[in-house]
Amino acid sequence: MTLDNLDTPALLVDLDAMDANLVAMQQRVSAKGVKLRPHTKAHKIPALAMKQLSLGAEGICTAKLGEAEVMAEAGIEDILITTPIANPIKYQRLVALHLAYPEGKFCQVVDHADHILGIGKYAMDAGITVELLIEVESGQQRCGVAVGEPLVTLIELIQATDGVSYRGIQAYSGHLQHVKGFNERQAQARTAVVGIFEFIDSHLRPMNLAPDVISGGGTGTYEAYDGLGFTEIQAGSYIFMDAAYRGIGNREGRAINDEFSNALKVWTTVISHPTKERAVVDAGMKCLSIDMGMPLVEDREDIRYQTGGDEHGILHLADNHAGLAIGQRLMMLPSHCDTTLNSYSTLYGIRGDRVINSWDIAGRGRSD
Ligand code: PLP
Ligand code: MN
Repeated sequence: MTLDNLDTPALLVDLDAMDANLVAMQQRVSAKGVKLRPHTKAHKIPALAMKQLSLGAEGICTAKLGEAEVMAEAGIEDILITTPIANPIKYQRLVALHLAYPEGKFCQVVDHADHILGIGKYAMDAGITVELLIEVESGQQRCGVAVGEPLVTLIELIQATDGVSYRGIQAYSGHLQHVKGFNERQAQARTAVVGIFEFIDSHLRPMNLAPDVISGGGTGTYEAYDGLGFTEIQAGSYIFMDAAYRGIGNREGRAINDEFSNALKVWTTVISHPTKERAVVDAGMKCLSIDMGMPLVEDREDIRYQTGGDEHGILHLADNHAGLAIGQRLMMLPSHCDTTLNSYSTLYGIRGDRVINSWDIAGRGRSD
């Protein structure tokens, strides 16, 4: 099958570009003596998680318990769930996950005493121990307990609570992944977390509370932390990249980040061409997310995409544009891989214009 046979909108991945991205990240993180624990929120596909593991990843991250259930069902059993869970239904599901896969190595992120006591209660009733990472504030002001006395209190609570055990710390500065300019981004990322490591050395280590695992970092910051003490990097988007990540700049000072390739694409059709300057494709914000800006049109700098609502993408054509016809196919580069992928059930692998394979996006919609 070729792209001509594929109806639109369709989510595609350039297999060669993706494979190169996977190898590059694993090699770069390994070269620093740190483990890679890829965040699978980007792809939600067990087979791709397996590929990451076979290339040397330590385990995987999922954002949500629902994604972890999907990955575990497919046979992946070293999973860090990076978002706190906070009701009895989820505490029981987390315990059920442990019971269903007794060989599994699961770890849940928490940042409050209620999480610890809630998970501990159900785990103890089931006779198991759930490992926990404590998320600490690292500049994003999202989740995360303050580094200092509040962190010590949570560690001591875990140690005093049956059914849970203290594995370490998560510090993810999500707000810095897209800071433009390589040097600026690395500097800000380092500054955001340096106090955590000082506190570990000055307080936690003397109290015998130093974390075994310190997990964090993403596609924009995976190499910002040399020598600080992260034990694993949680990068996710690097597998696909997207237009937003393309714009963060590379280490040679260029505006385009070409250290990973844009592998994720959306195949669309021109459905309307009402004026000389304007056409419309069959891909609106239900299949090309716009939370990180507009998608780009691949190899067509004469066309600018603007959202036209749920199901339409408006194309503004430059004065000297190369022409477009009704029915013509156009390839879009999504601005944000995670949110775009979550709208599709199938991901097609391509090489050139050949469609090589397809995957079910098994974790699609599993924000539960
Ligand atoms: N870790 C956490 C906690 C995240 O929320 C995310 C993404 O949002 C990542 C890691 C992966 O980051 P990226 O996709 O920028 O590589
Ligand atoms: Mn994202």
